[in-house]
Amino acid sequence: MNEESGAILVLSGPSGAGKSSLIGKIIDHIGPTYFSISTTTRPMREGEVSGVHYHFVSEEVFKGEIEAEMFLEYAFVHGNYYGTSLIPVKQALKEGKLVIFDIDVQGNDAVQSRLADITTSVFITTPTLCELKRRLHNRLTDSEEVIAKRLAMATREVQRITEYDYLIVNDDLEKAAEVLISIAKAARMKIPTLKINEFIQRWEAQG
Ligand code: 5GP
Repeated sequence: MNEESGAILVLSGPSGAGKSSLIGKIIDHIGPTYFSISTTTRPMREGEVSGVHYHFVSEEVFKGEIEAEMFLEYAFVHGNYYGTSLIPVKQALKEGKLVIFDIDVQGNDAVQSRLADITTSVFITTPTLCELKRRLHNRLTDSEEVIAKRLAMATREVQRITEYDYLIVNDDLEKAAEVLISIAKAARMKIPTLKINEFIQRWEAQG
């Protein structure tokens, strides 16, 4: 129903909850999608590639892009800037794609306030804080200081789960992926307010 106008799927949740693995698992099973690559001032982690995981830029470049109003939304997370560029998102929506965002709670708030009628939001987390600690330590990519910041942030973020349409507790990757596939398929069917009004007019005109 919504193939002409596209839709948005917001995924939020603590770093270490398995968002990236889940996205990797579902991406080939949910139809035409565009995964929004954010821009960040955070230093690149081992194994990350600029233009694939993020567009890595300096703070100066990021601030220039804010000035030029190039972001749909941006936020300051764990001491770094992260932002979603507007142009590729607009293009993907025009092509009727499901646009997937991996953004934090502030980003979800901003997207909801601008595009609520085509947005579905999902919060993904580990079963417990203890499990999140374990995963972040096993990942071996972040320093103790960064891990402590991420855990504090996660504790604040879970307080805002009520702002999301769905909660996925990722304790079994296969099951979580199955649930997320259903949500993504349903997200694509959301109808923008404008389209509903057009539909009602057409429906009545043929009475
Ligand atoms: P990480 O440094 O682990 O890649 O990401 C840290 C946090 O920033 C995650 O919660 C992630 O969802 C969030 N994030 C990544 N890109 C964006 C973005 O473009 N906008 C916002 N608001 N948050 C983002």
